Amino acid sequence: MMEYRKFGNTGIQISALSLGSWLTFGKQIDNSLAEELMIKAYDNGINFFDNAETYARGKSEEVMGNILYNLKWSRSSFMVSSKVYFGYEENKPNQRGLSRKHIIEGCEAALKRLHVDYIDLFFCHRPDKNTPILETVQAMNSLIQQGKILYWGTSEWSAQEILQAHLEAERHHLIAPVMEQPQYNMLERKKMEDDYLHIFRYQGMGTTIWSPLASGILSGKYLNDNPEDTRLAMEGLEWLRDRNLTEERLKKVKAIKAIADQLNISMPQLAIAWCLKNNHVSTVILGASKVKQLEENLEAVNILPLITSDVMMQIDEVLANKPVISEF
Ligand code: NDP
Repeated sequence: MMEYRKFGNTGIQISALSLGSWLTFGKQIDNSLAEELMIKAYDNGINFFDNAETYARGKSEEVMGNILYNLKWSRSSFMVSSKVYFGYEENKPNQRGLSRKHIIEGCEAALKRLHVDYIDLFFCHRPDKNTPILETVQAMNSLIQQGKILYWGTSEWSAQEILQAHLEAERHHLIAPVMEQPQYNMLERKKMEDDYLHIFRYQGMGTTIWSPLASGILSGKYLNDNPEDTRLAMEGLEWLRDRNLTEERLKKVKAIKAIADQLNISMPQLAIAWCLKNNHVSTVILGASKVKQLEENLEAVNILPLITSDVMMQIDEVLANKPVISEF
């Protein structure tokens, strides 16, 4: 049964699992499979679909937009996101970044591709060191006032940058960011478990966390062989492969897999459930290139009771990467 979580300090509820389209929609998988995945997700209670202007250079939003248009789900029953920063055209000046110009133009273009009147969650995909944070806050605030987006947030911003945005918003009576989209998985923990703690405590912040399986390595499928039909074997993604498929990481995955085996659950289910155990996670964005992967991963919400504090301690021992927070 899907669980719904309060989304930071907002009034909305978000499904604990959601579905993203990076590298799959408009790229790795065909459009009919993308539709099958969205239907499977929605029928299982997922109410948030994640996208960005840069995914397949706009094509991912086009594919998702056509699916939403054809399926005619009630607009109030789902949320869709876009992210602005990397651009979707060429790399001419002003075609990327967080200037008022690119934010407004990027939003207009995403609305058209997604076939929606408004975007529920609109993210700044990365910080932009060349644009004053106040300009970005003002642009996001004006999009909310125009009804083109409902909530805005950040992705992979530092705690300091997020706090600066809050400061500017408060000083100028503008709407502050309410969510972050950081990477979070067994192998990447610092932002969620250390850097953002004060923001969770004082500002409140929803999180839509990405790469719960570290691009598939935490599924355990790279332990015994070298599967070819996968993201990490795709041409042009050598950087992602090199970053993820290291001996040190595989050694940890092997030891975690033994814990999953003991619990009689699959490795992807354990890795996703582990993310859900963190109360600061509002939703875990799943990625899938096959329907059976999504079916398997959706079970993560049901096996949560198996992940006791004892199991969490065993996992921490293997990972040896838990940020040390001094207690007093
Ligand atoms: P994951 O780390 O979970 O990787 C998903 C991939 O792992 C799938 O596409 C599939 O790839 C493989 N996989 C998934 N389930 C299984 C399974 N049960 N068994 C075996 N292999 C499996 O998530 P993503 O990296 O896709 O991130 C999720 C979403 O987060 C993205 O779609 C995007 O919306 C968002 N995101 C945001 C970023 C940001 O900067 N804000 C950055 C990255 C992602 P394959 O079959 O090809 O091996």
